[in-house]
Amino acid sequence: MEERFTEFGMWRMPERVEKLESTPENSEALSLGAAFCPKGHGLVSGEETLAGQSGILLAFTRPNGETGRVLISTRLGDLSKKVLEGELVRGERVSLACPVCGTPLPILAQCDRCHTGDMCVLYCSPALSIEDSVAFCNVVGCPNAMLVRSDRIIRALERDML
Ligand SMILES: [Zn+2]
Ligand SMILES: [Zn+2]
Repeated sequence: MEERFTEFGMWRMPERVEKLESTPENSEALSLGAAFCPKGHGLVSGEETLAGQSGILLAFTRPNGETGRVLISTRLGDLSKKVLEGELVRGERVSLACPVCGTPLPILAQCDRCHTGDMCVLYCSPALSIEDSVAFCNVVGCPNAMLVRSDRIIRALERDML
């Protein structure tokens, strides 16, 4: 059997990385149908929408302690979001939590793009397995996000940032 854990008990991330371009053909592969907090609350909102699309509802806390709620896109590589409460400032690192129970989102690793944020995890099925999850950076404006599957990591091919 393949070793799933390192000697330190950390889950071993798959080494295979697939990069998919954000084209209409790939939109399903790069979209989340569901997202769950560590306690199993479904966070894909049917009530609040982002340009007609469903979004993921999250609670955030800014470095100054101010809190709010934001709706983010269910599509990887899509940075559109709607702040429902409070204020988000580009470049700030926020703490993210479930808006229902307040449980902080688990952190998978440090962001390998901006190097100041953490890759926060949402589970993609009620099984709450890291092997079917999405991780994204908690720095406002950092586009780093990846889908984690048992055998591979899927990232959206990013255009160069300006
Ligand atoms: Zn919750
Ligand atoms: Zn980042």
